[in-house]
Amino acid sequence: MTVGLVGRDATTAAFFDGAAAGQFLIRRCSPAGHASRPQVRQCSTCGSTELRWVPASGGARLVSWAVVPGRRGGEDDAPGPSIVVVVGELDEGPWWWSQIVGADPGSLAEGQRLRIGFEGAEGGEVVPVFEVA
Ligand SMILES: [Zn+2]
Repeated sequence: MTVGLVGRDATTAAFFDGAAAGQFLIRRCSPAGHASRPQVRQCSTCGSTELRWVPASGGARLVSWAVVPGRRGGEDDAPGPSIVVVVGELDEGPWWWSQIVGADPGSLAEGQRLRIGFEGAEGGEVVPVFEVA
């Protein structure tokens, strides 16, 4: 699953290593300390390229969401499971989008509290996902 990120490379290895260890890492610039999304290459507030990885609190607020219907395929051409993709505002400020797991999309509400969880694809990377807090 690559929701919200491209994949592992030299610039994202720390992020994936953090996720595998149960930490959701974001970027903070030096010296101002602005928080940015993990995938930025420069601070989204001041443009600094002096970025370090720091663990986020894991708390977030639901901004928006969409249900993505499962694709048809396989021998019986049955649709795969739908997934729910959400945009969450991290408590540190940046917005992050990912899949939400274990949630009924009909019960989601703007502003609802979320938390970061982790999900590993078989043979793939562990990635942060949202859960209802
Ligand atoms: Zn900054």
